Amino acid sequence: MLKIGLTGGIGSGKTTIARVFETLGIPVYYADDAAKRLMNTNDELKSQIIHHFGKESYTAGGLDRKYLASIVFSHKEKLELLNSLTHPVTIQDAQQWMNQQAAPYVIREAALLFESGAAEKLDYVIGVYAPQHIRVKRVMDRDGVSVNDVMKRISRQIDEEMKMKLCDFVITNNEQKLVLPQVLALHEKFTGGTVSTPTAAT
Ligand code: ATP
Repeated sequence: MLKIGLTGGIGSGKTTIARVFETLGIPVYYADDAAKRLMNTNDELKSQIIHHFGKESYTAGGLDRKYLASIVFSHKEKLELLNSLTHPVTIQDAQQWMNQQAAPYVIREAALLFESGAAEKLDYVIGVYAPQHIRVKRVMDRDGVSVNDVMKRISRQIDEEMKMKLCDFVITNNEQKLVLPQVLALHEKFTGGTVSTPTAAT
């Protein structure tokens, strides 16, 4: 069974496109959702977070995401530390999950696929590309945040063009090129055994 990564910058449309693959019957592992779940359920990860970020990281209701965000989003090294704790646990969880699936291929959707080391465990990576001005507008509309907030988030991610160069396939989600034919072309490749030589989906 092929293990496929799906990545792209904030607002590129990763989740939207992952949902399209799901409608084709392909199981999708959403790494950000999984990381949030594991921060509440994995005891070793919880104790590491408490050790590094303090007891205040958890309330009776679980992880205090506001508290943690207030620390990591103003200190780059703290964000890197949190990622270095959560990524290995999420990668292991994803591997277990993938091994339990029965499908021609599975998808792991994650913003930080290359940065986390997760890409090394995957057969191919699909990049979702959208120009920055579209991504900014989408996230402002979706999250009700300012342009500055979005630009801050973008500045924490690796350059979009560079990320796309690392991908085996690219889906262009710029609201001009139709997405569905691009998804179907990849689905056919992954299910039809014609995927040995990666080429960009056109
Ligand atoms: P994040 O990195 O923040 O999780 P993402 O890459 O997963 O973002 P989505 O959440 O899928 O991106 O998309 C961002 C917003 O843009 C959503 O509100 C989604 O509905 C919208 N969107 C995505 N693709 C399109 C499109 N082709 N046409 C119109 N709206 C779109």
